[in-house]
Amino acid sequence: MTGDGFVKAAASAIDDIEHYYSTIAERPVLPSISPGYLQNLLPDAAPEHGEDWQAISQDIERTIMPGMTHWQSPKFMAFFSASSTYPGILGEMWSAALTAPAFNWVCSPAVTELETIVMDWLAKILALPEVFLSKGEGGGVIQGSASEAVVTVMVAARERFVRRQLERDHVTDEEEREDRSCGIRSKLVALASAEAHSSTKKGAIIAGTRFRSMPVHHSNDYALTAKELRPAIEALITKGLCPYYLGVTLGTTNTCAIDDFESIATVAKDYPDIWIHCDAAYAGAALVLEEYQHLSAQMHCVDSFDMNMHKWLLTNFDASCLFVQRRKELTDALSISPAYLKNQFSDSGLVTDYRDWQIPLGRRFRALKIWFVLRTWGVDGLRRHIQHHINLGNMFVDLIRSRSDLFCILVEPRFALTVFSVKPRQRKAAQQVNGTGTIQHNDPRPFHDQQVPITPPTENEDVETANEITKQVYTTIDEQKEFFLTASV
Ligand code: PLP
Repeated sequence: MTGDGFVKAAASAIDDIEHYYSTIAERPVLPSISPGYLQNLLPDAAPEHGEDWQAISQDIERTIMPGMTHWQSPKFMAFFSASSTYPGILGEMWSAALTAPAFNWVCSPAVTELETIVMDWLAKILALPEVFLSKGEGGGVIQGSASEAVVTVMVAARERFVRRQLERDHVTDEEEREDRSCGIRSKLVALASAEAHSSTKKGAIIAGTRFRSMPVHHSNDYALTAKELRPAIEALITKGLCPYYLGVTLGTTNTCAIDDFESIATVAKDYPDIWIHCDAAYAGAALVLEEYQHLSAQMHCVDSFDMNMHKWLLTNFDASCLFVQRRKELTDALSISPAYLKNQFSDSGLVTDYRDWQIPLGRRFRALKIWFVLRTWGVDGLRRHIQHHINLGNMFVDLIRSRSDLFCILVEPRFALTVFSVKPRQRKAAQQVNGTGTIQHNDPRPFHDQQVPITPPTENEDVETANEITKQVYTTIDEQKEFFLTASV
């Protein structure tokens, strides 16, 4: 493809993308194809000879769209939201255009320096304690996902624990250090509440350590507190095991529970070798609002904090923002410098080489889309965006409460999340609502005035437990999607 060809192809792709967004609500949210559908639409082998862009682009609608679940549709209500905005898309375009896997500062100084700047901006927007800023010992780095962030800090936590133990035991001989390290690692245990995201357990598998979850209870809104934590730590130590990592959550996946950071901090003081990581993948975005920033202040007690801008903060996947209090603890664990990665700037110690803050070597220019988003909306626009979703969430809660004959709310709604259950005898109603494939989310009338085909259950209908038919609705129900896409704030 020549430059001229690119101009034409890109212009038509942008037209198609704009058309996709402006008509997305007309598409069914879920695909109606069977597994393996694409095998029947595409040839068995790559084309021997190159094809025209026109032929390729036509296949998007013919082959790809039938197999898409439209996460950006205003009718999509599953999981957490996955942001996509035009400035975010432009950031992705420029990142692709500049493709520069800047693992070291010297590989493209702008890639590294913009990342440091936008991560500091974000830390300030979220009102994180100053220790997370790059001007001190801390700093932020963009990871691909919250799960990747967990693995990264878990390895740093593991190595910090081992290093401190070896220092205490005055082990200096290299071979002995290696043997003793393996021994210590075999006793390490990562901890998290039973409601923590599965990435904590997965992280422990990858880091090669044990994992224990602590039960949390409905009576306490599923939050982890000192009450569960202290006995869990003590029991492990009694068995000769070493807790080295604690995952706490600001907004758990199931119910948006917020662990009790203050009481956890009182326990943590007695166990300073345990690394505490706060997973705020979804709810961290709410810290843009002053009303939630008392939670930001509580982050003084965690070693690391991660939130996904790609969930609720208007930035296209992927943009998981990890902040640490002491960046040296990441680089101590993850820095390896073979001759081919050495350069005078890295040696000077005056620059950041983000390869030492992450698992991969190469990295994308993700800071660009964050920069575009932050500048397009401004802090005020971000606040209005989050507040708007929370307002929609509150409206939804009122609708659910207005039909107490059909629904019950399982835990107090948090942020823009409501977890509710269809009452057991109304199971058929739940099936029918789900079966329509659409939910008219932006109808201002109360639920009972809408044309949702709800049939009362028959006398003989099986009674199921509420949990089986629990449906979580995340308020990506945003009747002003267009407003946010175009950023006309
Ligand atoms: N942590 C929490 C609380 C989540 O809800 C999720 C996903 O929904 C994750 C982590 C995993 O996020 P990622 O896909 O970025 O790894």
